[in-house]
Parts: sequence; structure tokens; C-alpha cells
Amino acid sequence: MTRHVAFSDLRTVAYCPRKCYYQRTRDDHDRASPPEVAAIRGLATRYDELLDACPDELATEPIAVPPATYRERLATARDRLGGGDGADGVDGEDGEDDTNHWDRLRDPADRDVLATGRDCRGIVHKVLAEPVEPAIVSAGKPPERGVWQPQSVHAVAAAKALAWEHETPVERAWLEYPASGVIRRVELTTRRKAEYRAALRTVRELDGPPPRIDNRSKCAACEFADECGVRTRTLRSLLGFG
Ligand code: SF4
Repeated sequence: MTRHVAFSDLRTVAYCPRKCYYQRTRDDHDRASPPEVAAIRGLATRYDELLDACPDELATEPIAVPPATYRERLATARDRLGGGDGADGVDGEDGEDDTNHWDRLRDPADRDVLATGRDCRGIVHKVLAEPVEPAIVSAGKPPERGVWQPQSVHAVAAAKALAWEHETPVERAWLEYPASGVIRRVELTTRRKAEYRAALRTVRELDGPPPRIDNRSKCAACEFADECGVRTRTLRSLLGFG
């Protein structure tokens, strides 16, 4: 029987295959989310309350932007997704249909569900109904446009797992960045599905440390940088030996 691949491994391998190798081979690696992450994810369950909060109240929340900006972004997301007064969800890139996605996101059919598909499994933070779609809640910041590529792989994995469990096609997922008041739609395009399949293959074939990636900004944020030798290599190249 094929072992299910964890969503977290798919996400990490899409970030850097070598990092995924380190994580999988370190028994002591702590995969539990720190409390700050839980607090930020909790914001995605309280949108109505946050929209009603005054700036002083918002300032006490784990938000990544000033209260006024946060309130404005959240209100824009609500209106764009069909939840504003009288809004019918037909303006903006997320509102080309009449569905009130805001209501589906703020009051999902289920939360924190362990979903098991044919190939992968993991926690889906929100399961939306009619149609079935997953929402992944990120504690980080969004990119300027779209979603980060490892999160795109994660979103496809969650959609695939739900599709398998519910025996229905799932063609869309959502990425929520509640610390920033941003919600992004993720269409399961051919490219995204291919990236998911490539990540799945890479995780399954990991049997030794893969080569280092050539993206120093990713390495700078990686907890395995010392072990990986990237810091040493950087120093060597500064000294003209690398
Ligand atoms: S330091 Fe860079 S190359 Fe090494 S595991 Fe981390 S992200 Fe990958």
C-alpha cells in the first residue's frame, strides 16, 4: 500500500527538497505550531467581530498591518467576496459568480478536518460547502499577488484529499492570510496540479539529501541553514573560496 504523504511535507518539498529531507530525518524536529501561529489562525474564525472592532481593540490583535489598514482590507475582502450590504459578488476578480463566498468562508461547513486522499493527508483548516472547497489559513504574509508556491501545492493537496473523500471534483481552494486581512482564491489550474504531482513524486523519492537550492533568501529563513552548510558556504564565497 502506498504511504500517504503529509501536506506539510509537500509544502516543504516545494520550498526546498533538501529542507524536507532534513525535517523527515530528524526525529526531534518539532512540527507542532507555536502558540503565535494558533492565535493568528484564530483570527480567521472571527472576521465579523474584527470588522466591528475599534482601532484600539484591533491593535491588541496579532495583526501585521495598522488597524485602519486591516479594517479596510477586511471590508474590501467581504465586499469583493459577496458579503457586503447589497453586494451580489459580481465585481472584482473573486466575484465573477453570484455565490456569497464571504459567508462560506466566515461560516464554513467544517473546521480543522483531517482529510485523507488517495495520495496525501493533512489538516484542512476550513471545509466550505456547495461546492466542496478547502481553505488553508496561513499565519504568514501574502505575496504581492497570488499565493506562495509551496502554499499553492498545499492547497491543491487539500483539494485533492477532499475530492477523494467526498467523491466530487474540487476545482478551487482558498488561501487566507488573516494577520494581513487578505483572502486569495486558488484555481486548480493545469500548472498548479503539475507542481503538486512533482512535489508528491519528489517526497516519495527522497532517499538522501538532495542538492542545495540556489535561492539565498529562502536559505536565510531556513532553520537548517547551519546544518546544511549554507552559512559556511556564504562565508567561504565572501572570502573568495566558494
Ligand atoms: S539552507 Fe537552503 S538549501 Fe539548505 S535546506 Fe535550507 S533552504 Fe534548502
